[in-house]
Amino acid sequence: MQKADELVFAPLGGVGEIGMNLSVYGYGRERKKSWIAVDLGVSFGGGEDLPGVDLVMPDIRFLLQERKNLLGLILTHGHEDHFGAIIDLWPRIKMPIYATPFTAALFEAKREAEPGAPEIPINVVPLGGTIKLGPFEVEFVSMSHSIPESNALIIKTPLGKVLHTGDWKLDPTPVVGPATDEARLRALGAEGCLALVGDSTNAVREGRSPSETEVAATLAKLIAEAPQRVAVTTFASHVARVRSVAEAAYACGREVVVVGRAMERISQVARETGYLDGIADFRSAQTYGYLPRDKVVCLCTGSQGEPRAALARIAADAHPEIGLTKGDRVIFSSRTIPGNEKVVNRVINGLIGQGVEVITERTHLVHVSGHPRREELTELFGWVKPRVMIPVHGEPLHLAEHAALARKLGVPDVVGCRDGDLVRIAPGPPGIVDEVPQGRLYKDGNLIIEAEARTVADRKRLAFVGVVSVAVALDETGVMAADPEIALIGIPETNAKGRSFAEIVMETVAETVEHLPRARRRDPDSVAEAVRRAVRGGIAASWGKKPLCLVHILTV
Ligand SMILES: [Zn+2]
Ligand SMILES: [Zn+2]
Repeated sequence: MQKADELVFAPLGGVGEIGMNLSVYGYGRERKKSWIAVDLGVSFGGGEDLPGVDLVMPDIRFLLQERKNLLGLILTHGHEDHFGAIIDLWPRIKMPIYATPFTAALFEAKREAEPGAPEIPINVVPLGGTIKLGPFEVEFVSMSHSIPESNALIIKTPLGKVLHTGDWKLDPTPVVGPATDEARLRALGAEGCLALVGDSTNAVREGRSPSETEVAATLAKLIAEAPQRVAVTTFASHVARVRSVAEAAYACGREVVVVGRAMERISQVARETGYLDGIADFRSAQTYGYLPRDKVVCLCTGSQGEPRAALARIAADAHPEIGLTKGDRVIFSSRTIPGNEKVVNRVINGLIGQGVEVITERTHLVHVSGHPRREELTELFGWVKPRVMIPVHGEPLHLAEHAALARKLGVPDVVGCRDGDLVRIAPGPPGIVDEVPQGRLYKDGNLIIEAEARTVADRKRLAFVGVVSVAVALDETGVMAADPEIALIGIPETNAKGRSFAEIVMETVAETVEHLPRARRRDPDSVAEAVRRAVRGGIAASWGKKPLCLVHILTV
């Protein structure tokens, strides 16, 4: 008997963590499925957890395995956690990419700004458009979010329709771009929705997130009432916020100066795609010095305290064109992403040190999240009425809260899964049926390495225990031909009694070699191992920690 077609889903990133979103949907008979991928994002570097790693990306082994059956990559929107890994990973797989106009234009601008990035074609899909990929028909549905053109996908298959929400919120007045397409989502509910695969980011937060328009009103007041210069920092891709700041500035007769490359780039893309229509041209940083103090608003990059971004340089009084002084006002129209608190505080303290007033979301409604809180999630379940629900885009706590909410609201089947789980959505009772290869890749300088490789683990060990390097020259009888050469890196200079560790290592090496039986001394590997053990032990005896130890034996 021939096996029936099935519809499956597997997250390869972003489920059980925030960032590096990548999902696949498969349709067909067992081992003969066609696949589509949704999003290909990054997580930002690990900082102290992953020293030297700039970006973390999902492993695409599974996509490479299924290369022949992979019909395309669909992008929901242009946030880095959804499209940031394409430039690095697409050349390995070269699948067709589909995105709406703003996402495509933003990607192209980013690619052009990256030296040596390859040509990567994107098929542009109009808002509300539908594409056909093998057994899948994928319809884009507009959702409001913190970037223009966030799309949910209605993935239609012979076994039913899946709503992949992407990142969304309910905002009837989003400042730019269409509001969440309630009518289409209600219609989907009436047609019958098999499964909802949904954004869990804010599932722990009660109520609903305020509108972007309320933030615009607060910004307008804060800018109009500012006695002197105003600088506003926000996420560069947040075009609605950029527009709100510009409108607030022009309303009180101020010019807008754009500072920072990412902000310049997004302004350009937003103008090309019509999202800044009706907004006068921005001024360049060079004009800043000529504008009266009460006639200017700076829009700066650096809301996350990035040390090379505009605001950090301004705070350190090290920006070539932009300076702030006592009486000026800086507004953080952003939220500090967990992990960035230290660097953001450094910038805030630098500004306050210069007598600048700093306003953040702690005291004023100068930022709202782009993700749905519980009332919004509840509303969507009411419209769509899915038979199956799979929480994604979140850490375990967010996923669990989202799942519990769905159960409480009476969704018949809720399937909790993690990166690498293969979920059968239909036919039959939905659930995890298999595993697919999954993992992480690190961007380390110009290279992409596997997370399982020892590179970063070694680097972390080095950071804690330092390294000793020992070179020993032995003659043919196994006697040391000269004093050993040693080097110590990252190890204290002396022990508690004031003896130098260099001396301790020298003595340990000499004694170890002398005490080895003659036969063993002729075997360089054996000598090296004995020296390594002795040196590590010798240092640990007074330091309490064992360093890494590299031993080279030269026979002369
Ligand atoms: Zn997003
Ligand atoms: Zn996201």
